[in-house]
Amino acid sequence: MTEAPVSAFTPAARVRRIRVSPSSAAAARVRELKAQGRRIFDFTVGEPDFDTPQDVKDAAVAAIARGETKYTPVNGTKELRDAIRDRVEATMGVRYGDEGISVGGGGKQLIYLAFSASLDEGDEVIVPAPYWVSYPDMVLANDGTPVVVPTRAEDGYKLTAETLRSAITERTKWVVLNTPSNPTGATYSRAELEAIAEVVAEAPHVLVLTDEIYADLVYSDAGGRATSLAEVAPGIRDRILTVNGVSKSYAMTGWRLGYAVGAPGIIGAINLLQSQTSSCPSSISQAAAAAALSGDQSFVAHAREVYQARRDRAVELVDAIDGLVPVRPDGAFYLFVDCSALIGRTTPEGAVLETDQDVVLHLLDAAGVAVIQGSAYGTSPFFRMSFATDLDTIEQGIAAIGEAVAALTPAQ
Ligand code: PLP
Repeated sequence: MTEAPVSAFTPAARVRRIRVSPSSAAAARVRELKAQGRRIFDFTVGEPDFDTPQDVKDAAVAAIARGETKYTPVNGTKELRDAIRDRVEATMGVRYGDEGISVGGGGKQLIYLAFSASLDEGDEVIVPAPYWVSYPDMVLANDGTPVVVPTRAEDGYKLTAETLRSAITERTKWVVLNTPSNPTGATYSRAELEAIAEVVAEAPHVLVLTDEIYADLVYSDAGGRATSLAEVAPGIRDRILTVNGVSKSYAMTGWRLGYAVGAPGIIGAINLLQSQTSSCPSSISQAAAAAALSGDQSFVAHAREVYQARRDRAVELVDAIDGLVPVRPDGAFYLFVDCSALIGRTTPEGAVLETDQDVVLHLLDAAGVAVIQGSAYGTSPFFRMSFATDLDTIEQGIAAIGEAVAALTPAQ
């Protein structure tokens, strides 16, 4: 047997600047513990626990049978573009031509391509915290500078017009909005969006990337659907890139299909990069996504109701635990929990909890509960738990969290 050669490989600077997604890392840890035979209540998962609707699967099988197994245009099949156009018009009230639509391997890839297509070294991207874990790393990977702007509990963890105004500089290229937000579920109202749009209107060099991947999953008591910035701000519409996809609304995370709509300039640049990277997303996933977007929408309504019942139960149970304060989400399927009261408490093994990472490790060790530390989302001391899991797991898991918290000795 010959020895494997020692690699001369050194990652590029852009790779050295970024980290493994904390949610992927948490999922790997959960898999490892489960493989060792431990029972784990897994609240790390960022994807629906539903199966993809049958009519969507059928559409994919039919596409294969018809031989739709070849490259498609970079900006997707006509069928998919039409389905996106109609869905976007129905939900956002804005109609985009073909030159205003990009498709990609998930909303995630399109956000990456948007940064890649626009950022030069030193360009700034305003990222309100708590943020989805990937934004700062995607900015860094594309030579940009993330400018993390903390939000406040009293503002519902949303970016305000004043905070935005003071964060904008000459180097600001993008502001990132995420409504509803991962990890807080915070959803911007029409008035909040209008106030933000006014600030953006005053700064003509600034673009807005609005990530609306959870827009369909807003609870009935918060309006049933997120209001879209492009809808309320026609005056700056040519500077808004709206990202969405089928992953969360239709339980299609594995199909890897997202889309973006916006002005022809940025969309053209994204499509050019796409043409030199993946050429196009999978033709079969495109057929499935077209069916999801243009078909019967009752699946989405049903999923929303189920998530809402879980949200209500999870909020109620976490709220009852002394030391934990849940942020009540308006949408998406995450509960962001303030655990600052646990900092300084001592575990039965004698360790003092100093950070939210310590809290998360204690919950994993003592309760077999997997959650993700707030520091991954730029906000501590918090943790995020996904409730895209059945009610039994939610109830038993939160009961286990309660016991692990009760076992802590208060700080002196
Ligand atoms: N944006 C947010 C806020 C997310 O939470 C996710 C997935 O977790 C995505 C975008 C990416 O979704 P996808 O690439 O599956 O379309």
